[in-house]
Amino acid sequence: MNETKELDQTYLAATYARFDLEITHGQGATAYDEAGKAYLDFGAGIGVNALGYSDKGWQAAVTAQLAKVQHTSNLYYTAPQAHLAQALCQRTGMKKVFFSNSGAEANECAIKAARKYAFDKYGPERNVILTLVNSFHGRTLATLSATGQDSFHQYFGPLVPGFRYVEANNPQALEAAVDDNVCAILFEPIQGEGGVTPLTKEFVDKLFALAAEHDILTIADEVQTGNGRTGTLYAYMHYGVLPDIVSTAKGLGGGLPFGATLLGNKVKDTLTAGNHGSTFGGNPVCAAGALYILSQLNEPLFEQVRQKGAWLKASLEGSPNVISVTGMGLMWGIETTKDAKEVAAQCLNKGLIVLTAKNKIRLLPPLCISQTELEQGINQLKEVLAK
Ligand SMILES: *Cc1c(COP(=O)(O)O)cnc(C)c1O
Repeated sequence: MNETKELDQTYLAATYARFDLEITHGQGATAYDEAGKAYLDFGAGIGVNALGYSDKGWQAAVTAQLAKVQHTSNLYYTAPQAHLAQALCQRTGMKKVFFSNSGAEANECAIKAARKYAFDKYGPERNVILTLVNSFHGRTLATLSATGQDSFHQYFGPLVPGFRYVEANNPQALEAAVDDNVCAILFEPIQGEGGVTPLTKEFVDKLFALAAEHDILTIADEVQTGNGRTGTLYAYMHYGVLPDIVSTAKGLGGGLPFGATLLGNKVKDTLTAGNHGSTFGGNPVCAAGALYILSQLNEPLFEQVRQKGAWLKASLEGSPNVISVTGMGLMWGIETTKDAKEVAAQCLNKGLIVLTAKNKIRLLPPLCISQTELEQGINQLKEVLAK
């Protein structure tokens, strides 16, 4: 065992079931281990390294800001935050932004904004947020409570009250769950950790119709689906709807910890001084990097993401031991006849990094992956699956 592994296993809390791989550096869609072995990376962190490893433009944006000011408190103005917030609003139709450091925090802000909106307008009773079965919204106590999977809740009660779980893609169940105490519906357009399951258009239409009828806020958790991942800037854009709140993180920072909660017209002025805050949120180095990432997320790239996704789906569908292929753009879940963890370990031996979600193989390659690299990785995966 090498030194890193030994120290890690001795001194780190054992919260991760790590694969037997130490990543030391990377370039584009390729990661390298300490022995110099190359791995085609179809995980990109967990959908974080949007432009892969060592993107020159992103590095330049980050290091230029690093040389100016690495941090100042949110008591003062910084240009990267201001420009990034402007860019996010202009490209989404949202009105204001709150910056944080992670997906869970982006959701915490969304939950707080929704509850305060309802408190201000209807009083304290209206505090229930509907979330979906099999959803994943984070590991903090509130976002864990929002997560509609019992396996995550075990050991950590009492949970934060005020969340009610509804079966995804069941419009009748959603309608039945609405009452006067519901202030918001929180949903992932494509459930990521839950198995890469897209919401149907019918369900999303019903969700927005109910929300409009009852002044319930719609919150899209785009932590994983956002920032070009599915072939549009945000996945809600596939459905022709505009949520009241959008939370995002992962790919937005390009690898640095960063989260954003985009606030639409109804809630743009809901949170005021003293209601919410973050010491590190909106860090200028992270924000400068995110501004560069956003500048690269344009229609020609989205078109490529959609085309590569269509190729990937066609290539995997019907191939040996593949049961189903679900997702959009460069976010895919593959249900197979095999054990997903075992498949991932075998892929790793061959020099291919893949993720899992439940018992599916999950693919989140960097958006910059070339068609050649995509084909190489998918062929390796098919070889493992065919055995
Ligand atoms: C990853 C993820 C989160 C949590 O993000 P962290 O940065 O780990 O806090 C929340 N929601 C969704 C949909 C995610 O995929």
